[in-house]
Amino acid sequence: MNRVEVAVVGAGVTGLAVARELTTRGVSVAVVDRAGIAAGASGVQPGGVRQQWGTRVACRLARESVAFWREANELLVSQVPLDLRACGYLFVAESATTLERLRANVALQNEEGVTSRIVGPEEAAALVLGLDADALVGAAWCGDDGYFDRPQAVVEAFANGIDVHRADVAELRRDGNGWIVGPIAASAVVVAGGVDTAALLAPLGVELPIIREDRYLFFSEPIRERLLEPLVVAAERAFAAKQLADGRVLASDLGARGDADSGRERWRATIRAASEALLPQLVHVSYPLLVRGVYDVTPDHQPILGPVDEGLFVAAGFSGHGFMIAPAVARITADALLGERDPVLDILGADRFAAGRLVSEPQLV
Ligand SMILES: Cc1cc2nc3c(=O)[nH]c(=O)nc-3n(C[C@H](O)[C@H](O)[C@H](O)COP(=O)(O)OP(=O)(O)OC[C@H]3O[C@@H](n4cnc5c(N)ncnc54)[C@H](O)[C@@H]3O)c2cc1C
Repeated sequence: MNRVEVAVVGAGVTGLAVARELTTRGVSVAVVDRAGIAAGASGVQPGGVRQQWGTRVACRLARESVAFWREANELLVSQVPLDLRACGYLFVAESATTLERLRANVALQNEEGVTSRIVGPEEAAALVLGLDADALVGAAWCGDDGYFDRPQAVVEAFANGIDVHRADVAELRRDGNGWIVGPIAASAVVVAGGVDTAALLAPLGVELPIIREDRYLFFSEPIRERLLEPLVVAAERAFAAKQLADGRVLASDLGARGDADSGRERWRATIRAASEALLPQLVHVSYPLLVRGVYDVTPDHQPILGPVDEGLFVAAGFSGHGFMIAPAVARITADALLGERDPVLDILGADRFAAGRLVSEPQLV
């Protein structure tokens, strides 16, 4: 049996980023995954990176991570360029209530150093070519938000030089002062198992309120013409869309849940209605590909981070934004393993649910 200092369950972006961070600090690490690299949500996510959040802790994790992402080409080893494309995110508002919510979030973001701002309908229309701003009362804009064209290459880059074992970890067993984690013996364990994290920890008496939520992305064929540059989110219409570097348009009904066979046409109708109202240049785009992924959702839509027992750590419950904050999560988790407790763990620790200290994130996609 292999023996290492830290075993990580889960070869998604979280587990791999934690493993990389520990390795760079000289800690011996092995990652165990039942299905290989990026087999979970990390293999589906389209690489969105934003700093427009409605809670301070989410802004902090995002800002720290963006600093890492800007240097991804230098910090990670990859066969392909890993460029964060800062095309901007525009959150549009069609009602005074939504605009007030965006305004409050922008004020908080600015206090946290995020360069977002409220724009009027005219400026929104200038930022997004083709946007019909007639129905808008305003929008929130951050030009530093953006995405990776090859998000899966980013995840693979974290795996470079990391020992990844293919095995299903059926249980975590105590072994003296350490743990048996499938084929690995380790002094400490990090469980970064996405939606399956709670099931692995429950037999140890660690109850985590993480539920699975099916989410869907529609993709068009590649379109040569640039139809949509910044990413547009219309929360009131449960709609988000962007055009990827390869020309495909990615669009979502943000309310799409449950079974695809019964929901598909309804979700298409949501996308079509929002396109007609806001982005008429997308009306004739068809979306032959529907991709399903799973969010690991917590009650406040914030991750659960830090120690849950002696030598046992968790990094899960990312509620749809675990890719973009993986660098900060990795740094904080590695610090915790090496005995340094980041104040974020006092906010996002597993004990917050029992203590009623939820930090509900209002700006969700
Ligand atoms: C449709 C969709 C769109 C998204 N868009 C974005 C976005 O634009 N930006 C963003 O930041 N985030 C986005 N996300 C969220 C993001 O994908 C996730 O938060 C992130 O990938 C979580 O990574 P993870 O490593 O924690 O979990 P996962 O990638 O789910 O990895 C968990 C791994 O653990 C393994 N595992 C679990 N239990 C065991 C076990 N017992 N034994 C062995 N292996 C085990 C699984 O096989 C899996 O590979 C999106 C998600 C979806 C579904």
